Parts: sequence; structure tokens; C-alpha cells
Amino acid sequence: MSDETGDRHGRLCRRRLLQSAVGAVGGAAIAGAAAGNASAAMKISRAAVAYQDHPQGDKRCGKCLQFVPPDSCKLVDGPISPLGFCRIFTPMTRT
Ligand code: SF4
Repeated sequence: MSDETGDRHGRLCRRRLLQSAVGAVGGAAIAGAAAGNASAAMKISRAAVAYQDHPQGDKRCGKCLQFVPPDSCKLVDGPISPLGFCRIFTPMTRT
């Protein structure tokens, strides 16, 4: 094998290494983006947690740890009234 052939072989190996690295980074970026979208989309349906648009006694979404003002919930999908309630109500702790 001449020096020229060896040099050419070395360049091909470096090229393949760089292509593999770029492919791996691109794949990781795509996987990360997909995971981000999945976590944003994975909410429980209101029916699954028996959501109701009125309070259960003094328990209501506005007093729940999962409530996101003005009308959303970290865990349950759809518009959520601050006066609503569901089975996974989690009271805010008072400090
Ligand atoms: S009670 Fe809590 S978990 Fe249930 S919908 Fe209201 S804010 Fe979300």
C-alpha cells in the first residue's frame, strides 16, 4: 500500500467517523424534540378523572396544586375552570 493510498484511506475513515457523529447528534436532537412534544401532549382526559365544572365541597381546581391559571391544568386536558374539581385533586399545602 502506497502512502497516497493510506492517506486516502485515512480521509475516508475520518469522513465516515464525522458522518456517524453528525448522524448521532441529529438523531439525538430529533429524539429530544419528540420527547418534548410527547410530554406536552400527554394529559389525562377530563372524563378519565371525572372532571366536573363545579366544586366538591371546598375542593376546587383553584385550590389544587395542578391548576394553571387562568383555565388550565398540568395533568388534565382541556379548559379547566378554577371552580371545577376532579378525582386527582391535590390540595395546595399551606405554609
Ligand atoms: S382538581 Fe386539580 S388535577 Fe383535577 S382538573 Fe382541577 S386542577 Fe387539574
